[in-house]
Amino acid sequence: MEKIKMTTPLVEMDGDEMTRILWKQIKEEVILPFVDLKTEYYDLGLVHREETKDQVTVDAANANKKYGVAVKCATITPNAQRVEEYKLSQMWKSPNGTIRAILDGTVFRAPIMVKGISPVVRTWKQPITIARHAFGDVYRATEYRVPGPGKAELVFTSDDHRRTAHWQTVHQFAGPGVLQAQFNTDESISSFARSCFQYAVDTKQDLWFSTKDTISKQYDHTFKDIFQEIYDAEYKEKFEALGIEYFYTLIDDAVARVIRSKGGFIWACKNYDGDVMSDMVSTAFGSLAMMTSVLVSPDGNYEYEAAHGTVTRHYYKYLKGEETSTNPVATLFAWSGALRKRGELDGIDALGRFADALEKATIDTIESGVMTGDLCAMWEGETPARKVTSLEFLREIRARMEQALA
Ligand code: NAP
Ligand code: MG
Repeated sequence: MEKIKMTTPLVEMDGDEMTRILWKQIKEEVILPFVDLKTEYYDLGLVHREETKDQVTVDAANANKKYGVAVKCATITPNAQRVEEYKLSQMWKSPNGTIRAILDGTVFRAPIMVKGISPVVRTWKQPITIARHAFGDVYRATEYRVPGPGKAELVFTSDDHRRTAHWQTVHQFAGPGVLQAQFNTDESISSFARSCFQYAVDTKQDLWFSTKDTISKQYDHTFKDIFQEIYDAEYKEKFEALGIEYFYTLIDDAVARVIRSKGGFIWACKNYDGDVMSDMVSTAFGSLAMMTSVLVSPDGNYEYEAAHGTVTRHYYKYLKGEETSTNPVATLFAWSGALRKRGELDGIDALGRFADALEKATIDTIESGVMTGDLCAMWEGETPARKVTSLEFLREIRARMEQALA
């Protein structure tokens, strides 16, 4: 069989624990037999992050900017216990945080749906993609534990220092309490809006956006206004030509409508809303192991990954010599998504067809009743579920691919 040739390398970011094992198996079983794979490899495994003082993460993110498309394995975000376990010289920051800070942009998470595993919400027939703004708000807030009676004030001093441009009382405290200041910038909100509109155009889906602008008349209202201005000026015609819709509503109304919907749209959420709602939506669709994630930067760079972590519990079993039944689907879809995008940018149709075939073979395998342990518990298909190891599952997909391509 002639392997598919690539022209530009994918930026490959390796990771940790069980997903690092799956990473290698996915490449060997379902990518390398079919694609003459070109990658620029960065090892973001915690051992190598420590060796390079985390420089490797910065280098990988810069390579993502240079080439445009990356595929990333799940990585450990160190906490105190990991510092001990890996004898780290520092509690290195979350690699995803570092990459997001360099690329900027929006994270889109979408569930992979299969027949035989139904969403908890009966009406959902199509995936719901959550677009989460990944900058500012409560994640960059300044907080203060108020010790007792006193006045809290909000002060903004403009850069020219000629005057205090804004001053207002927040609250006159009669006793102890809490205080918090949040911010965001027009620049980040605008790039969030553009990423969402562009992704809606790319995937030909409606875009919903929700905030609490009736209560937050300056903060949330600014988000609403910026979205509307950018839509009117840059995207309205494109949306109309594609027959898709931009729809703004209040966050509480959106929650109610999402539950009653059939799915098949993108839901843009502010940072906190997106954090909370993506966990709700992914759980309701079935499994975190069936959720893909892509970071889209405003200047058109893409980083594909699984939404789940390094599956530590399974890794410890693996280290004891057990063959685990860890679900490789989301990581496999990160690879197919990245290869499809690379093909699109380089005009290599065969890569797109390969990605489609790989995703179809994966879904067909599950729908035929062959799956990893996490899915067996949810299986409602007609044929009884056959639980297989990760490697057996990948070999089953490979056999289907070979048949399809023969
Ligand atoms: P996790 O790795 O997502 O795993 C949580 C649990 O979910 C697992 O123990 C497993 O349940 C189930 N699960 C997740 N993915 C699965 C899969 N592919 N197949 C089967 N079951 C799966 O989250 P965590 O345990 O909270 O975090 C572990 C490490 O991952 C942490 O060091 C964290 O920093 C890191 N992390 C990285 C990323 C990222 O790189 N994007 C994201 C999140 C977390 P059972 O044990 O019940 O089988
Ligand atoms: Mg969360």
